[in-house]
Amino acid sequence: MATIFTRIINGEIPCYKIAEDDRFFAFLDINPLMEGHTLVVPKQEVDYIFDLDDETLSGLILFSKKLAKAIREAIPCNRIGVAVIGLEVPHVHVHLVPMNSMGDVNFARPKLKFTPEEFSKTAEKIRSKVRL
Ligand code: AMP
Repeated sequence: MATIFTRIINGEIPCYKIAEDDRFFAFLDINPLMEGHTLVVPKQEVDYIFDLDDETLSGLILFSKKLAKAIREAIPCNRIGVAVIGLEVPHVHVHLVPMNSMGDVNFARPKLKFTPEEFSKTAEKIRSKVRL
């Protein structure tokens, strides 16, 4: 069965989309640690990041770099934290989290809540900065 992220990529489940190309897709995490918390996913459905072939893995990092630059321009922060957890969804995804201090990337803390309007505004702010 397709993963939830494949269903998002295919447009079967809505998301706050940020960007895509032929191999990768980026959208806002629905349970964000910080405003602008973004997930970057390869369209290829693989569970574990280090099972990706070298070309897809390096492409994922380079795509994430472009997204991180856009997020940093859109959301005031010190830098963009990068994490790969993958315990919840068995489809590779890179978390890009705007951060100012270590606590901002503590995945054990309660997530932030935003309204659909707030998520849409955040996505639009980031989209306006994306240069693929
Ligand atoms: P993990 O697999 O532990 O890296 O966590 C999966 C992440 O995917 C969590 O941060 C979830 O909030 C996020 N997530 C799960 N379903 C969705 C969805 N439908 N839209 C956006 N983010 C999601």
